[in-house]
Amino acid sequence: MVIKLNTYDFHNHTSFSGDCDYSMETMIKHAIKHNFKMLCFTDHYDYDYPKTSDLTFDLDFPSYYNKFMELKEKYSNSIELLFGIEIGLQPHIYNTILDTISKYSFDFIIASSHVVDGLDPYWGEYYQGKSKEEAYSRYLETILYNVNHFDNYNVYGHIDYIIRYGHYKDKKMYYNDYSDIIDAILKKIIDTGHGIELNTSGYRQKFNEPHPNIDIIKRYRELGGEIITIGSDAHYPEHLGYAFDTAYEVLSNCGFKYFTVFKNREPMFLPIR
Ligand SMILES: [Zn+2]
Ligand SMILES: [Zn+2]
Repeated sequence: MVIKLNTYDFHNHTSFSGDCDYSMETMIKHAIKHNFKMLCFTDHYDYDYPKTSDLTFDLDFPSYYNKFMELKEKYSNSIELLFGIEIGLQPHIYNTILDTISKYSFDFIIASSHVVDGLDPYWGEYYQGKSKEEAYSRYLETILYNVNHFDNYNVYGHIDYIIRYGHYKDKKMYYNDYSDIIDAILKKIIDTGHGIELNTSGYRQKFNEPHPNIDIIKRYRELGGEIITIGSDAHYPEHLGYAFDTAYEVLSNCGFKYFTVFKNREPMFLPIR
């Protein structure tokens, strides 16, 4: 079977996310128009998101679930829809997250770090008074803490998210500068049976690389990592499947023969070519 490109998007958002205005049905229609095979919704659930802005990321779980079930049925002949979530981890909320997500059967869970020490790097305050090295190291330390203490996820999202919003001239997270902690994170993820994602939003944001960057993806493979999903992190329909052709090439160049999709929290491996 030849796998069509651009067709298995495992990270995208709908108006159930506080930062997205497009309905689930709008996203689905776009995906069908472009022959997507699978679309997995991963709306935000960032419990105790800092009150820096008017945005909230408290997901309305019953509405999210009911709308998903309705549309899954409605479009079942055209596309396979999967029920996922992107949870924002912070050490003091593990139990709340576990309680909340245990009430639903998800196909797929992305764990992400959007908030570090009570601050979302998106708003800039996080970087104040920190050198690039301090900002990035602290961010990575919190990811390491999360993977050491939280287990109910499938892949860790956009591991170098921190590079998006800092004011540093060269924002890239160079693997060699943080190799010890990046290795510790990747090894823990692999040893505990989890994975990472290749998030193509970096290509949209002009980094010309995915999140995490190619050196980190390569290192993950070298360490034995096999589970890797591909996601656009779309908040607009036209971003669905963005740069997936490039993503397949990157995975292939990093030594992967397969990429991963999830159903009922179980990984399935599909050949890249
Ligand atoms: Zn995210
Ligand atoms: Zn996202």
